[in-house]
Amino acid sequence: MTKNLIRSITRSLRPGIVLYALLASILLSLPFVINNGNPIFHSSLLFFGWIAWSLSEYLAHRFWMHPTLKNEKPESPFNHLYHHKHPTEIKVTHFHRFFSLIIAILLLGISVWMNNYFTLFTGYFLGFVLYNFLHYWLHQEWSAHWLPALHRSHIHHHCKFPDKCFGVSTTIWDQLFNTASPQNAIIPNRIRLFYFNKKIVEIATPSEKFQVPASGQSLN
Ligand SMILES: [Zn+2]
Ligand SMILES: [Zn+2]
Repeated sequence: MTKNLIRSITRSLRPGIVLYALLASILLSLPFVINNGNPIFHSSLLFFGWIAWSLSEYLAHRFWMHPTLKNEKPESPFNHLYHHKHPTEIKVTHFHRFFSLIIAILLLGISVWMNNYFTLFTGYFLGFVLYNFLHYWLHQEWSAHWLPALHRSHIHHHCKFPDKCFGVSTTIWDQLFNTASPQNAIIPNRIRLFYFNKKIVEIATPSEKFQVPASGQSLN
């Protein structure tokens, strides 16, 4: 059990997101010194606020969005399964993302002014803002280089293991609750093409009909 826990924590640290969140919490705690706030106290509250967000995001995705929304109209964009079928279509827009970012900056200002446990709520809200950006980033090809584990986990959730990989902000809860995808599971090119909505060109030859991606990559 302890071994598994240590392995889960070290695996979660590997993608870097936990370290990024920790670094961001430390940086965002610096303005608190203006109001005689303790940066260690406030960076801890910001970090634990983010952890709390990531847990609620995991639980909502696993136990609310997947089981209950199945009964909604399949093609409704408000049905979570619609996003599974159309991975490039995300209900949250750039306007929503940046508007929530402005709210988070205001909340941070209020936290500095209040200089108390309100910072925990700000950390939680910052987690929500980060989640909205992260979800968009995980649907961009370049995030495979920057956040490989999260990127892989989200593609697996969409295309291969819809009953696993519920964490978008971090894989920590999937590892702790045993819903992570198998370590050696590969992502075939045809899944990548579907996930990134790359056009597939159908070529008919006299003897056979086969598909090649428009980009010229070969299908697995
Ligand atoms: Zn889902
Ligand atoms: Zn998605």
